[in-house]
Amino acid sequence: MADGEHFDVVVVGGGLAGLSCAWEAAKAGRAVAVFERGEEPGAKNVSGGRLYLGPLRGLLPDEWNDAPLERPVARETLTLVSGGGAVSFDLRSDKLRDPAAASHTVLRAKLDRWLGEKAAEAGAMVVPGARVDGLLRTNGTVTGVRLGDETIEAALVVLADGAVSRVALDDQAPPPPSPAHVALGVKELVTLDPGRLEDRFGLEPGQGAARLALGDFTRGVPGGGFLYTNRDSVSVGVVLRLDGLAAAGPQGPESHALLDAFRAVPEVARLLAGGETTEYSAHLVPERSVDQLPPRSAPGLLVAGDAAGLVINHGFTVRGMDLALASGVLAGRAAAGDPAAAPAAYEAALAKSFVLRDLRAARRSQAFLARDRLYGHYPRVVTELFEELFRFGPDGKGRVARPAWKALRKGVLNWRGLRDLWAARKL
Ligand SMILES: Cc1cc2nc3c(=O)[nH]c(=O)nc-3n(C[C@H](O)[C@H](O)[C@H](O)COP(=O)(O)OP(=O)(O)OC[C@H]3O[C@@H](n4cnc5c(N)ncnc54)[C@H](O)[C@@H]3O)c2cc1C
Repeated sequence: MADGEHFDVVVVGGGLAGLSCAWEAAKAGRAVAVFERGEEPGAKNVSGGRLYLGPLRGLLPDEWNDAPLERPVARETLTLVSGGGAVSFDLRSDKLRDPAAASHTVLRAKLDRWLGEKAAEAGAMVVPGARVDGLLRTNGTVTGVRLGDETIEAALVVLADGAVSRVALDDQAPPPPSPAHVALGVKELVTLDPGRLEDRFGLEPGQGAARLALGDFTRGVPGGGFLYTNRDSVSVGVVLRLDGLAAAGPQGPESHALLDAFRAVPEVARLLAGGETTEYSAHLVPERSVDQLPPRSAPGLLVAGDAAGLVINHGFTVRGMDLALASGVLAGRAAAGDPAAAPAAYEAALAKSFVLRDLRAARRSQAFLARDRLYGHYPRVVTELFEELFRFGPDGKGRVARPAWKALRKGVLNWRGLRDLWAARKL
């Protein structure tokens, strides 16, 4: 590649947003280059991860037939942990298997590599080991990128460089998200023989499980733990609000210690026993409401995926991958037309898509999830309630509803609990 080379579209970042954009623009006959700083697509990318394919079906109906998906999720569990006890709410339902709404566990190393191959087959030039250091601008319009001393010109640049967009930082773009708007995800991959994995998670062959946990293992830091079953491994991790970690101060818990604490919860330890940890990774997750998102376009520039803050934390699940893929596809389609019209076309397509619709619908999630009673108080109330309900001591039981009612009155039906419930109604 020669200095000053020209492309129709230059994509910064070979993650899900960047590669889906490159695939789409290359299919439309555009000359596309993707610069990825990692050794290969997926090498630096982290997700829990469960991918919701349902919302993507309208945009990518048939493209998933040969995608490297791990397991379709057939069992959903929410576990509340407190004082050594745990209460789980467990869902198994044929509706989870409905192809129109199914979710699948994925491993990013495989998925991103596959997407990179698709983009390359369509004609995009995917360049690994290439870090973009800045944008070129002419009269306020972005006209290319800079990699060290090298300059590459483009009719359109698509920034898809993830949660902390360094390129954006270098080029007068909006400041990085504050700690209140970012979480830290820490994850390990634990290998387990598929038969043993299915036994332990209570799954039929080939099926998968997703489990979210909230409770005292995060030691007061707002956040939670997750488990996703892959073909022959389990993704286990915690997602923690950065301001919560910072507020705990230097003496507070470190993120890896909280992951260890989650893994030590007996419910979790039993599922992972004997497995070998083969990967450890940490990554930031944007957690902004739709009203706090950075600009998604400028003359000559589109921004997709995490770089545009397109992530929703519903509390019981994090969605960033489907939003990254969808925004990448829409950026690629906008890039297939007149570059001068691409920013407006991209904004219009996003506004009509599920991406902005769902982000708008979830606009109160972040503020709600900042309520620290969700992480310590409610798991304790529910665990103690169930412990009381199922205990039959030497004095017999008495009226079974009495302890339940007492716990609910004390723990939930007071002014703070009612305030939380009132806030929850608009989620
Ligand atoms: C622990 C954790 C669990 C998660 N769980 C889920 C989940 O279960 N489901 C879900 O949907 N989402 C989940 N997410 C969110 C999801 O992973 C992200 O939203 C998604 O990866 C965003 O994709 P992206 O392509 O925008 O960014 P990324 O995947 O971060 O890709 C950005 C790419 O840009 C490259 N890059 C960065 N800077 C440069 C540069 N200057 N030059 C060249 N290349 C550069 C990076 O190397 C990277 O490959 C989770 C996130 C974390 C951290």
